[in-house]
Amino acid sequence: MKTHALITKSRVPPSEVDEELCIRFVNTVAWRLRDLVEDRVKTTTALLEWFAAAGVADASFAVRLRARWEKHPRERELFRESAVRLREAIYQILLSQIGGKAFDRSALKILNAATGAHVRGLGIAPSKGRLVWRSDKLDSAADDLLKPIAWSAVGLLMGPRSGKVRQCQDERGCGWLFVDESRAQNRRWCSMGDCGNRAKVLRHYHRHGGRELASSR
Ligand SMILES: [Zn+2]
Repeated sequence: MKTHALITKSRVPPSEVDEELCIRFVNTVAWRLRDLVEDRVKTTTALLEWFAAAGVADASFAVRLRARWEKHPRERELFRESAVRLREAIYQILLSQIGGKAFDRSALKILNAATGAHVRGLGIAPSKGRLVWRSDKLDSAADDLLKPIAWSAVGLLMGPRSGKVRQCQDERGCGWLFVDESRAQNRRWCSMGDCGNRAKVLRHYHRHGGRELASSR
């Protein structure tokens, strides 16, 4: 049975949805698995509003950009085209990831171009069924090898998981960091197999007045 075209999902402000920014952007198209898809950011105005709501642009920047586009309508069109192209490329790449299928080279090219890294010969590329960072240049290796780490940090800090970073509470001073993905947000140790297990053994030891404790790691 086909779903009726008039059914719409509730308009949840994008910043309130607990997903990575790129997924929220991909999801500006609803009903992708239906015949009649629904693009929620069909106009540049709607697109700009979305960016502002998602925290990508602040309100005053959006106002200035809109004023500029009044004078340069071609720029507005280019912006909308680039945004849609990137959105659909990310969608294709994520679909390949989900389905374990070969990554679409042209989609990867669009994503790499949008990061600006390709200018230096850096980008993501398929290798043995997964994506890896690849750099062509040896002379800028230090910069290029550090960039993915820096982007990862920025992505984490600006993403929905930024408030979930914790440090292991192991009493020996383990100090490892982790992202607490637990529903109750009460994870205390870097791993249950190591520090978590040791804490459990320790509790047991105190409770039962035992003697020696073997140190792990
Ligand atoms: Zn630990």
